[in-house]
Amino acid sequence: MTATRSALIIGAGIAGPVAALALRLTGVDAAVYDATMPGREETGLTLTLAPNGQEALRIVGALDAVRAIGLPMSGQQVTDGRGRRVGVFPPVAGQPPVLALRRAELCQALRAQAEAAGVAMHYGARLVDIEEDGACVSAVFEDGRTASADVLVGADGIRSRVRSIVDPDAPSPRQWPLLNLGGIADTVVADKPDQLYFVFGRRGFFGYWAEPNGRTAWFANVPADEPHDRHVAKARSTGNWLNWLRDVFAGETPAEQVLAATDSTAMAFVGALESLPPIPRWSRGRVTLVGDAVYAPSPSSGQGASLAIESAIELARCLRDRPDPQSAFKSYEHLRRARVARVVKRGERTTSTKTVGPAGIAVMRLVMPIALKTFLNQERTLGPEQRFRIPWDRTVDETIR
Ligand SMILES: Cc1cc2nc3c(=O)[nH]c(=O)nc-3n(C[C@H](O)[C@H](O)[C@H](O)COP(=O)(O)OP(=O)(O)OC[C@H]3O[C@@H](n4cnc5c(N)ncnc54)[C@H](O)[C@@H]3O)c2cc1C
Repeated sequence: MTATRSALIIGAGIAGPVAALALRLTGVDAAVYDATMPGREETGLTLTLAPNGQEALRIVGALDAVRAIGLPMSGQQVTDGRGRRVGVFPPVAGQPPVLALRRAELCQALRAQAEAAGVAMHYGARLVDIEEDGACVSAVFEDGRTASADVLVGADGIRSRVRSIVDPDAPSPRQWPLLNLGGIADTVVADKPDQLYFVFGRRGFFGYWAEPNGRTAWFANVPADEPHDRHVAKARSTGNWLNWLRDVFAGETPAEQVLAATDSTAMAFVGALESLPPIPRWSRGRVTLVGDAVYAPSPSSGQGASLAIESAIELARCLRDRPDPQSAFKSYEHLRRARVARVVKRGERTTSTKTVGPAGIAVMRLVMPIALKTFLNQERTLGPEQRFRIPWDRTVDETIR
């Protein structure tokens, strides 16, 4: 195989446009294909972007555009459902604030950056199959279109079709017994506009932060006896789920006020919280995977988007510095696997705390002052995650010893 000159990227969520931007920097001609039309994404309404993800965006020249639409969050306040303080988490020292974003706006900004860099973006193009011969790889789309290039990158999310082609035996996403709902309320309840608020309620976990123009962004994770996938979620209307949620958080502050001020049209129910067990095989031939397609940390990690951005850029660096795609993919996996596994593990631990129940919350309140100095110390838990930087200006040979 020879060096990479062209790439097909499947998925225009977060990893896809960033991979295209990074590949353009290395002189690779990249085209992006997404199954949906702009504005029809289904993954959730809001997310937070960690300092490491932001700094990675600086490499591809997209940081300013993303900062312009993000709300800087300088710390986290944790309370119980009666408003009593459980703990306060300061930011990791020396790091920029986490950014809170509307997901659709983040995707739109990244796509616009990619387009401005000359990347061809194709929407309504659902990949169904991949064909490969010695010289190139071809994508086959549902509508009969095909496209060919030197490599194909699967950035098609947690239910990746590309993953199922790379390895038909790859494990499926794990569904946690926690329902995941989110929305935007027409009210202000946050004391400070630059804080993320997390509430361990009696029957569920509730997170929120202030948005401009008198709004509050929120999400709720509610324990459930059985997994509820997206299809179960969609079988009930959002109005129905909103009423159910109001009942779950009745009498809890400020969830009750926030949910009362939420219209069902400003709400999304994405089903159970999901994460992806380790995927044994990251690539095959001229095809590789990036982002949620190959390691999807639980949303509770707050790192899925940032890791997707980092990996997309690291993949481009490997394709830049290695003589052929297969050795590039090998180096890429070598550089990324351990880092993402650590974050996935921490995300799972965080997700587990959301099911503690009233007795667990009482204990948590008691031990929190000690925990914040020891095992929940921000520097120790989040420091290594948030301080990580992709060494773009160094060669892969210099970083793999
Ligand atoms: C409710 C929720 C809240 C979250 N909150 C956070 C958070 O606060 N912070 C954080 O860092 N992470 C969060 N995450 C995780 C984060 O969203 C993901 O890690 C991130 O979106 C991964 O980016 P990606 O580009 O790999 O995949 P995605 O963003 O899922 O993008 C995949 C794209 O591929 C397209 N696609 C799928 N199949 C095909 C196909 N066959 N052909 C063509 N295109 C296809 C999809 O349309 C989509 O546009 C959250 C996730 C959820 C579900």
